[in-house]
Amino acid sequence: MHDVIIIGAGPAGLSTAFWCDELGLDTLVLEQAEQIGGQLHRVHNPIENYLGVKANNGDELLELFAKDVESAEFDLWTQAAITSVDLKAKRISLASGETLQSIAIVIASGVSPRRLGVPGENEFVGKGIIESAARDRQLFAGHDVCVVGGGDAAVENALLLADVCPTVTVVHRGKKLRARREFTERLQAVHCITVFTESVLTRIIGDETVAAVEIRRKAGIKPFQLAVRGVLIRIGVEPNTQLFRDQLETDEKGFIKVSSTQETNVPMVFAAGDVSNPLAPTISSAAGAGATAAKVIAARLSAGR
Ligand SMILES: Cc1cc2nc3c(=O)[nH]c(=O)nc-3n(C[C@H](O)[C@H](O)[C@H](O)COP(=O)(O)OP(=O)(O)OC[C@H]3O[C@@H](n4cnc5c(N)ncnc54)[C@H](O)[C@@H]3O)c2cc1C
Repeated sequence: MHDVIIIGAGPAGLSTAFWCDELGLDTLVLEQAEQIGGQLHRVHNPIENYLGVKANNGDELLELFAKDVESAEFDLWTQAAITSVDLKAKRISLASGETLQSIAIVIASGVSPRRLGVPGENEFVGKGIIESAARDRQLFAGHDVCVVGGGDAAVENALLLADVCPTVTVVHRGKKLRARREFTERLQAVHCITVFTESVLTRIIGDETVAAVEIRRKAGIKPFQLAVRGVLIRIGVEPNTQLFRDQLETDEKGFIKVSSTQETNVPMVFAAGDVSNPLAPTISSAAGAGATAAKVIAARLSAGR
C-alpha cells in the first residue's frame, strides 16, 4: 500500500513526486515510456519561460529535473504498462500481473500529438515527415515543404521553415488561422508562405521519401497534388485519458476536470499538468499543479491519521 501513486513522469508527475517525497509520503511513479520526461523530449526550441532557468531545449531542462529526481527517495518504475485502473478503489493493475494499491492517485499522463489519420502518415515517419522545424529545418533547406495546422505551433514552424525553404504551403481546415496575431502578422510578411484555408491534406505520397501531398480545397472539390519533400503536422493534441475516461468527469475532448486543489470528482484522485489543463499547457503550470496536488494530499492524509 502506497500513500500516492502518480501516473506519468513528465514535468507534472515529477513535480508531484518531488513534493510528495519532501512531505514524507510513500510515493510510487509509474511511467509507460522507457525514459522519464514526457513532452520535454520533443522540445527542440530554447526554453526561456520557466522562471529562473534557461535551457537550450527540453533534454537540457530534463537533465536538471533528473538531478533532483535522483536525490529524492520516491520509487519510479519506467516501462510500466498499466492494463486497468479502478479509481474509486485506488487499484492499478499492470501487464506484469502486479496489482498496486494506494490512498491517493495523481493522473499526470499528459497529452499526445493529434494525428491526421491519412495514408502515408505512418509510412513516411523519418522519411520526410518533419518532427520539428527548430531541429530539422536544415535537412529540408532548398526544398518545398507543407505544414498542416493553423494554430501557434503550426505557424511558428512554418516561419522557421520559410528561412530555408523556397516555398512553404500551410494547409488549414478552418476559415481563419487560429495562431496569435504576432505570428500571423509575421507570416503575412513572408512571401514564400502560401496559406490554404478551408483545406485538408488527404494523402502523403512518395516512394522512399515524401514526394508530394494531396490537398482538397473546400469540400466537394477534387483534390490536387502538390510536390513537396517535407510535411510537418501540428493539429493539436489529445489528452492521454483513455484508461480513466469513463470513471471521472472530463470535458468534451477528454481533458480531466479538476477543482482549484487539482482534485477530480472522484475523492482522493487528482490530476495535474496538460491532461487537465487544455488552456494553459506549460512546464510551469504542470510543475505548479503537481505541487498543489502533493500539498493537498499530504494535508488530507495528516488530518486522517
Ligand atoms: C514542441 C514543444 C515545445 C514546447 N515548448 C514549451 C516551452 O517553451 N515552454 C513551456 O513551458 N512548455 C513548452 N511545451 C509544453 C510542455 O512540454 C508541456 O506543457 C509539459 O511537458 C506538460 O507536462 P506533463 O507532465 O503534464 O505532460 P507530458 O510532458 O505529456 O508527460 C506525460 C507523461 O505521462 C506518461 N504517460 C501517459 N500515459 C501513461 C500511462 N497510461 N501510464 C504511464 N505513463 C503514462 C507519458 O509517457 C509522459 O511521460 C512544449 C511542448 C512541445 C511539444
